Amino acid sequence: MITIKPRFQFDCDVLITGGGPGGSALAYHLARKGHKVIVAEAEQFPRDKVCGDGVSPIAISELHAMGITGTEKFRQTNEIKKVGLFIQNDKVIIDLSKPEHLLFHAHIIPRIELDHWIYEAAKNAGAQYFEKCRVTDYVVTDQGVNVSLTQEKRNFQIKTKVIVGADGSSSTIGRKMRGTKPGEEFQLLGLRAYYENVHGPTDRVDIYFSGESFPGIYWLFPKGPDGANIGMAMVSATIPQNTRHISKMLTEHIGNNADIKERIGPGKISGKIAGWPLVFYNSESRITANRVLLVGDAAGLINPLSGDGIQYALLSARWASETLDAAITRNDFSEARLNTYREKVDQELGFDFALSNMLVQFSRNKTLTPVWMSILRIMIARSKDDPAYADTIAGIFEGTYPSHQALNLPFILKTLLQGGKEMAVAPLSELWNNPAGFARSKSELSDTVMQFLKNIKNDPKDQARWLLNVTRSGISVAGHILGSLGR
Ligand SMILES: Cc1cc2nc3c(=O)[nH]c(=O)nc-3n(C[C@H](O)[C@H](O)[C@H](O)COP(=O)(O)OP(=O)(O)OC[C@H]3O[C@@H](n4cnc5c(N)ncnc54)[C@H](O)[C@@H]3O)c2cc1C
Repeated sequence: MITIKPRFQFDCDVLITGGGPGGSALAYHLARKGHKVIVAEAEQFPRDKVCGDGVSPIAISELHAMGITGTEKFRQTNEIKKVGLFIQNDKVIIDLSKPEHLLFHAHIIPRIELDHWIYEAAKNAGAQYFEKCRVTDYVVTDQGVNVSLTQEKRNFQIKTKVIVGADGSSSTIGRKMRGTKPGEEFQLLGLRAYYENVHGPTDRVDIYFSGESFPGIYWLFPKGPDGANIGMAMVSATIPQNTRHISKMLTEHIGNNADIKERIGPGKISGKIAGWPLVFYNSESRITANRVLLVGDAAGLINPLSGDGIQYALLSARWASETLDAAITRNDFSEARLNTYREKVDQELGFDFALSNMLVQFSRNKTLTPVWMSILRIMIARSKDDPAYADTIAGIFEGTYPSHQALNLPFILKTLLQGGKEMAVAPLSELWNNPAGFARSKSELSDTVMQFLKNIKNDPKDQARWLLNVTRSGISVAGHILGSLGR
């Protein structure tokens, strides 16, 4: 007797978990290609998301291709043409250039608006949304994926050919796929507050470096003529252990830093300070498995130097849509097929993320902070007299250039030359004008070396772990450099 197995009935081709920029952009691209897409989103649109609201030129190019930049609402958002870099008692204001291939400068767009526009574009393209609906689990079988969801206390299941995790930095899908949580050395913490009645230049974002938060940064991004998004991002492992209320770090910085205080003027905080964890890219972590794929923050696509992730969420969504389109056509959802997406991510972003990761792992050792502060000072000094050099630095922060552009020989030579100049001229004038200060700065350097040696003696395990991470990330960068030479 012949038995006929009942056919697996799919509710959709692709179930996307999360409707932020990554999930909604992917839904838009797939729906435009005629695929049946369901997006399950835990919240209801329009919804806020803790962010600096800085949307880079590359992110806006992606939005432009989706038809999102043609509206009056987009035209009303704040365009950024300058960046101010501040370090104790020194600063540089840099005009942002616009490379020809990019149509827009960066804009500041509150996420409650930006994410809603992408969601509407996806719905108009034909994607179906289940809002206030959380994906709680999934099971991959030979035939498809059974997804468990909860919507307003009702539990139900959806059958799909493939499931995508676009569910942000605490991704349920990523955790299940990898079977582990990301290591602390790959975690950042971000805080954001909105301020009203902040005046000053509307076209200038400011970034503040301080030893206390390094390798993190503080920022002020103007929303328009009288409001600003102010916040900080820090590597979680370097948050001082005695910090009882992390939000205090932000208010104390604002209270103690003369430059940010001057910029805020009579401005006052509106609403609460909100925090959010971020996980950055670990090239050893999986972002694909049989019938499963991760995009955006869920895949760790965050630049740990700048905290930017919107452009990577949008880019990864487009690349994932190309892989998934081919997978649906061939009816092949194996990890090997989905790995074409991983290869694209590595090819386009691998070098950049490896370099940023190495710099962050290196600077995670707080004993070396004075050295990094000196390097930043040298870079700021050079930026004042060298527009091309300044342009590279500003481009890295704006997300216009990849960070590995800074690795080119002229940039490194200029930094070293400037460092040599400062070391030759500054000590002589400092010795002449301020002998006590000169002696202090020399003893700071030897203190740094002594502290470093003491740390190795006191906690060899921790120092060995740090060295291992630095070496690993260094090897990864070296691999990318060799790869690029071979191309
Ligand atoms: C303080 C801070 C400042 C930042 N500033 C900037 C900046 O200025 N510029 C920049 O480019 N980037 C910035 N980022 C990073 C940026 O916010 C992220 O990279 C971006 O939001 C990634 O988009 P995404 O779609 O991958 O994830 P998200 O925007 O996090 O969207 C994930 C969605 O998934 C939903 N979800 C989660 N779990 C489930 C579930 N189980 N079921 C259903 N839905 C679920 C969530 O509700 C959410 O809507 C900042 C981040 C922080 C924390």
